[in-house]
Amino acid sequence: TPFKAPEAIEVELGRTFMLRLGANESNWGCSPLAQRAAEDIASHLFKYGDPQSVELRTLLSKKLNYSIDSILIGEGIDGLIGLIIRAFINPNDHVITTHGSYPTFNFHANGFGARLIEIPYAGDQIDLDGLLSAAIQYQAKLIYLANPDNPSGTAYDRHTIELFVAKIPEGCLLILDEAYADFMPNTQLAEIDVYTSRVIRLRTFSKAHGLAGARVGYALAHPNYIATFHKIRQHFGVNLAGQVLCAASLRDAAYIEQVTKEVAEGRAEYYQLAESLGLRAIPSSTNFVTIDVGSIEKSIWWVKRLAEEGVFIRRPGTGALSQCIRITVGTRPERALLAEIMRKIHAEG
Ligand code: PLP
Repeated sequence: TPFKAPEAIEVELGRTFMLRLGANESNWGCSPLAQRAAEDIASHLFKYGDPQSVELRTLLSKKLNYSIDSILIGEGIDGLIGLIIRAFINPNDHVITTHGSYPTFNFHANGFGARLIEIPYAGDQIDLDGLLSAAIQYQAKLIYLANPDNPSGTAYDRHTIELFVAKIPEGCLLILDEAYADFMPNTQLAEIDVYTSRVIRLRTFSKAHGLAGARVGYALAHPNYIATFHKIRQHFGVNLAGQVLCAASLRDAAYIEQVTKEVAEGRAEYYQLAESLGLRAIPSSTNFVTIDVGSIEKSIWWVKRLAEEGVFIRRPGTGALSQCIRITVGTRPERALLAEIMRKIHAEG
């Protein structure tokens, strides 16, 4: 499979990881309200979930000020990307993405017979002009852009994204993957009118909300697009427990604020750690930090040595950032342990 799961690596190594810092999960866990909801819903799981996810859409509509008919709940961003591809792509249509960026879009696009055009990063950042020119040149149907991006961690500010959205050519749609939006200041999130723009925004409960295993994400888009997705989506795809836990989490804004504050502290600590090891960290707007370790061989070595010491991290597998390692921000005790282990490994050369 394209992603080797930490569980599979554990089987190979014959041991369990002590620190799990490779999948950009939230090691703080979910809100206590969501945990209580999980206990309460356990005895109701004989029931089907609401196929319209009305409670969740209503809460999101109030929070984000989007109309209910412009919100679709899906099985994580990954599920929603698959839905978008199935809705809009015919075999041999061109689609545009960044070489080495988050790959789920590529998997679905390739699986559906699209022609994938991959634009290299411009330094540590996505090449927005490159994406646009390619979309025009190939008369592409879709552009995929993660902002903030994974694995670079970099983000463009709201004005840059608003300008970019305004330039999406006719006949083309932008998938704006905002999985890490919760880690950006609200004032830096682009204002996008889904009624007049060619854009589908995607968000998730997998990151700051600490509910990756619940598999819930949502799309914000023109009601006409949402109506199209309804025709082809799985009727009961969004599970009951996921719906209830995410609704509970949305009612605990203070918890998300606390988590994102601690993540910001953790990022600063990772920058310092990298600097103390003579390595360059890329400034991040997410819950992970990507560190340039100088060469592909070195990045493979770091991942291997850390795994031997019981730490799961990942490295960008392809593209301009493959000489980097990517480390999820963990809790304070996890970060202290990580720093100790990385210093020890670094001393080996
Ligand atoms: N989009 C990006 C940019 C990600 O980095 C990730 C997970 O790491 C996802 C989407 C997956 O989101 P979900 O769990 O909602 O499918």
